[in-house]
Amino acid sequence: MNTYINRAVLRMSDIYAPTLKEDPSDADIVSAKLLARAGMIRKEAAGLYTFLPLGMRVIHKIENIIREEMDSHGGQEVLMPFVQPAELWQRSGRWDAYGAEMLRVIDRHDNEFCLGPTHEEVITDLVSNELRSYKDLPKNLYQIQVKFRDERRPRFALLRGREFIMKDAYSFNADQESLDETYDRMRDAYSNMCDRMGLKYRIVQADPGQIGGNATEEFMALAETGEAELVYCDCGYAADVEVGACHPQPSEFAAEALAKVETPGVHTIAELAAFLGCPENATAKAFAGKGEDGQVWVLFVPGDYEVNECKADRLAPGFAPLTDDEMAKIGLPKGSMGPVGLPAGVKIAADESLRSIERWVVGANEDGFHYVGAKQGEDFQVDVWADLCTVREGDTCPCCGLPLKAARGIEVGQIFKLGDKYSKAMGATFMDEDGSEKPFMMGCYGVGVSRTMAAAVEQSYDEYGIIWPAGIAPAQVCVIPLSPKPDEVTEAAETLAAELAGAGFEVVLDDRNERAGVKFADNDLIGWPVQVIVGKRGLAEGVVEVKNRATGEKTSVALAEVAASVETLLA
Ligand code: ATP
Ligand code: MG
Repeated sequence: MNTYINRAVLRMSDIYAPTLKEDPSDADIVSAKLLARAGMIRKEAAGLYTFLPLGMRVIHKIENIIREEMDSHGGQEVLMPFVQPAELWQRSGRWDAYGAEMLRVIDRHDNEFCLGPTHEEVITDLVSNELRSYKDLPKNLYQIQVKFRDERRPRFALLRGREFIMKDAYSFNADQESLDETYDRMRDAYSNMCDRMGLKYRIVQADPGQIGGNATEEFMALAETGEAELVYCDCGYAADVEVGACHPQPSEFAAEALAKVETPGVHTIAELAAFLGCPENATAKAFAGKGEDGQVWVLFVPGDYEVNECKADRLAPGFAPLTDDEMAKIGLPKGSMGPVGLPAGVKIAADESLRSIERWVVGANEDGFHYVGAKQGEDFQVDVWADLCTVREGDTCPCCGLPLKAARGIEVGQIFKLGDKYSKAMGATFMDEDGSEKPFMMGCYGVGVSRTMAAAVEQSYDEYGIIWPAGIAPAQVCVIPLSPKPDEVTEAAETLAAELAGAGFEVVLDDRNERAGVKFADNDLIGWPVQVIVGKRGLAEGVVEVKNRATGEKTSVALAEVAASVETLLA
């Protein structure tokens, strides 16, 4: 049962839920507007929010679902310090690597700390002294806590905050097989969580970053406003476009030899293809960037595809596109870059699909000119062949060959097989059955609690306000007496509210001394799944109106049938 939710009838006159008539001027997305207007959150500063009582009720609902699913899938709750000693991060090698997202602080003794952006270091340090034997494994520890990441662009309120609530879990396993099992259990737990929270979601293959392998998936709440792009197929395949396998099919441009062509006014691939009278996929598109080691790369993909910066990052860690100034300094002409005659020291990488194309159509590194028939291996050399293109809608599914569909999503959770990356770096080992010391195999599993709250709103609202899924609504049903002052209507509403609470529902009574219009507007805005409207005329006939917030449908229901009717609507 829901131990954190008060089951007594809540009174609107008591609740600190200051609703607003207008959207806050800096609210940049639906959930930011509606959560503020419904009196659930307030902004303190960029990426920093206060949760008001109704918002906290939603947070508690989400946390309870997470706890129940974690506990029933082998998790055990802990609470680690939010402030973490620098020394742990120096041991894992991430103190320098983590970058500006980590907020660093110094205590009165001049010791360095950070505000926890994640907890791999703390937990690995914790268990390394205490989980000594294979007999102690596996263990899966989780916490629900505030995290701090000094995001470059905090925005969309709870979707990308700087301080936000996360559930993070870490598993310690003796071997890969055991890690695979824990990962699968977490995958089940996460699917149950999303189902119970009423989210529409997909599980997608995600970018394993520097860890590599096919070892991570994201839980994406589907929403047009989501920052993530994904492709999926009815056969079950789904991937973040950051990783989605991509197999472009470039075509050959008929040219016998290298020839420089004057192309006045041609700046885009579409213009170039039109000028030459060839398809876009017979040209090659260039993109310049550099890795954190300072190496400059020019990347080539077929003209009808885009370079994927996440894939580029795997080729050149820390990959960032060159600015116009940087390009000018190196001598790279924006808009007419090509592989023939690049400045010394610049490396060339090209998409695998171009390997089979002998002669390319490319920029001539001179404004207003292109080359046709540039021959790879002769006119220029490709240093590295790699998967560099961004998959798109309509590409063939790598599993079944059907055309892929595109969608946008909000990453609410991610599960990860870390392997021995952190345990090796930090010397965290256990004694295996054969007596040898081995590093733990680890997994980590995160859910954004506050982000999930906003994602639910992005998926479920209308022009009147929020429509909470029943599983995470601040309360399930609101009883609204249509009478400003105490009379038989308010009395009947009191009785009904108490009966519904007694029957196990979470009930709010709108006992405010307000006009019906104000009550309707506020309750629609707040978004309780069910409203029970008590009016004088209905009461005379022994009925009330039960309103389904999602559809707006109102049904006349006899007093004795209200509980059953509410139950049906919540199911
Ligand atoms: P993103 O790619 O969106 O920045 P992430 O992959 O860096 O997120 P993880 O390290 O996987 O995030 O963290 C686990 C979960 O924490 C995410 O799935 C997300 O739900 C949540 N989360 C991460 N960053 C934020 C943030 N800035 N604000 C709110 N929630 C966040
Ligand atoms: Mg993630």
